[in-house]
Amino acid sequence: MVDLTTRNFARNLDKNDALATFREEFYMKPDSIYMDGNSLGLLSKRAERTLLESLEDWKHLGIDGWTQGTHPWFFMSERLGEMMAPLVGAFPEEVIVTGSTTVNLHQLVATFYKPNGKRTKILADELNFPSDIYALQSQLRIHGYDPEEHLIRTKSKDGRYIEEDDIIAAMSEEVALIILPTIYYRSGQILDMKRLTEEAHKRGIVIGFDGCHSVGAIPHSFSEWDVDFAYWCNYKHLNAGPGSVAALFVNKKYFGILPGLAGWFGSNKEKQFDMEHTFFPAGSAGAFQIGTPHVLSTAPLLGSLEMFAEAGIENIRVKSLSMTNYLIDLIEKELCDFEFIIGSPREGLRRGAHVSLEHKEAARICKALKENGVIPDFRAPNIIRLAPIALYNTYEEVWMVVQILKSIMRDKQYEKYKNEREVVA
Ligand SMILES: *Cc1c(COP(=O)(O)O)cnc(C)c1O
Repeated sequence: MVDLTTRNFARNLDKNDALATFREEFYMKPDSIYMDGNSLGLLSKRAERTLLESLEDWKHLGIDGWTQGTHPWFFMSERLGEMMAPLVGAFPEEVIVTGSTTVNLHQLVATFYKPNGKRTKILADELNFPSDIYALQSQLRIHGYDPEEHLIRTKSKDGRYIEEDDIIAAMSEEVALIILPTIYYRSGQILDMKRLTEEAHKRGIVIGFDGCHSVGAIPHSFSEWDVDFAYWCNYKHLNAGPGSVAALFVNKKYFGILPGLAGWFGSNKEKQFDMEHTFFPAGSAGAFQIGTPHVLSTAPLLGSLEMFAEAGIENIRVKSLSMTNYLIDLIEKELCDFEFIIGSPREGLRRGAHVSLEHKEAARICKALKENGVIPDFRAPNIIRLAPIALYNTYEEVWMVVQILKSIMRDKQYEKYKNEREVVA
């Protein structure tokens, strides 16, 4: 019998890992184990290079960087849309890199929420990220509706997961628009996007997804599933840097419609500099851009996406699942005496790229982990999220995290700290 609790078992997994070489391309902090790549991905040398190239272009070319730079700024958002399309299963012109997650949600709701007759409500759920809910509430208010009444939030039975059946049951004739995450940020549950899209469309409802926790972690087929739109950030699994510019997908069946929030960078590029007061939208997802792109917060994504193309999102998913499986197995074997609850789905098909560990002392266990060189993240009130990232973490690190947790629990090291979260958790 092989014993998966030995360090050698982990080392063998690393030896046979076809993606292992990507780790050398990242700036890994010595004596530290980073398990927080689902909140802020690490810097790679390639992302640093493409950022510095754009900075050099500014230095040497001034305004000509827009058209003559190493990565001409005027076309960078579209170029990145093409590079990102395979990660979400879209046609190249269906993806654009622009805005932030929340701003893109505002743009897409402003475009696709068309209350009409009885159909005035927006369907979401009670576990989505707060920013998405704030955006939906404010959009309803702009339309003169009371969010208390017009925002439906599907309930979770256990505070962790939401059943697709329950969401489908809420798709009534009063619903005009559905907004859901692809993966829940706490539990890591994957929603069945294909099925939910089919069911929404059967009832004549437009549906859009927040892909913050899935893009760069799992494959998607947005075009094939006929998803209407989606939006996501690029600073989590895509490693483009703090506050890096986000992205959106709009199904090509909508090309040519007017964006809810128009601006000159949404123009057909041929016409943009005609400077006329008539807006001609781009015939692509580019139409949903608003103003001048944030070039320096976009450029790192160029280098980062090269790595995703080389590694292949299918391979990334296989390794990620294997790492989270290993982590769960080790937790069950090594931490069974310490009252942890695994708050993520066991079935691979329903599990994203992180593992949630629930514990009543979670806030201070996280502090003890940090003291021991492990960077987890904490989600109030009781969740420790651990995200082994396929491109830069090792199986041996996963093994070490569990060993460190075991000694923290055995020696009650967490009792040194207050059980409270920090300002940025
Ligand atoms: C990270 C995250 C956000 C963040 O939105 P920003 O506009 O980038 O700050 C929104 N929604 C979800 C589901 C997230 O995970």
